[in-house]
Amino acid sequence: MTQHIPRKRFGQNFLQDTRVIEDIVRAVRPERTDTVIEIGPGLGAITRPLLDRLDHLHVVEIDRDIIERLRSEFPPERLTIHAGDALAFDFASVGPGPLKIVGNLPYNISTPLLFHLAGFGQRVTDMHFMLQKEVVDRMVAAPSSADYGRLSVMLQYRFEMEEILAVPPDAFWPPPKVDSAVVRMIPLPGRAGVADDEARLEDTVSRAFAQRRKTLRNNLKGLADEADFAALGIDPGLRPENLPVEDYVRLSNHLGKKHGKSGA
Ligand code: SAM
Repeated sequence: MTQHIPRKRFGQNFLQDTRVIEDIVRAVRPERTDTVIEIGPGLGAITRPLLDRLDHLHVVEIDRDIIERLRSEFPPERLTIHAGDALAFDFASVGPGPLKIVGNLPYNISTPLLFHLAGFGQRVTDMHFMLQKEVVDRMVAAPSSADYGRLSVMLQYRFEMEEILAVPPDAFWPPPKVDSAVVRMIPLPGRAGVADDEARLEDTVSRAFAQRRKTLRNNLKGLADEADFAALGIDPGLRPENLPVEDYVRLSNHLGKKHGKSGA
């Protein structure tokens, strides 16, 4: 087959460092009969060693040329190829039972993809993703740190997350301009309390972080007043980055009760 020319628009940076590949597969710890979905298999750097340890693997891939290569290399009884956009893929459609999800993700869609995946939290045992290191830093950031924001709150609400591997640009071909890291995400339902309405939580967190330098009082004007903050024991003079995940959940639940289902 001819050499594949990496496509920038699909975020194609292919892993070539065998030590990094082994470390990822070891971290995923696949058991033969596990249901595993790989996002963006590309030229198969992670796909091949995963298939050595699995009876069957699902992949989601958007690039038609790559799909054709995968079809010619792997028989359908070993590899199910879901051709299309991972952002629109129904990860629950692969069948019942717990899922492991893995991928060296296209960096240009990583944030929307993480939000999409968060919706399948209940079905998932664990997820392992290669991402831009800067994104992983934001995912695992603690309150009151510069990296703590909407992504931290909305993902930490659902997942225990840990950076397990730092990966330099030369582990890829072509090398990306930024450092990368592998993150492990394990669903932990209810760790930070349970949101009565997740859409409202998302809306409250978005509004709270609308302007990082402003206080909660200012960012949430029209939504929460002094009495609301007092009832929750939250200082309205705090900046959004100072509020822990569980307080965002309490705030959103309180505002839900106050405003009712229809208004945010
Ligand atoms: N897993 C391979 C590796 O580690 O060498 C390739 C990783 S490369 C960073 C990202 C892969 O995701 C590419 O194969 C690309 O075609 C695919 N991809 C990009 N956008 C996608 C999308 N929206 N849905 C599914 N796959 C996508």
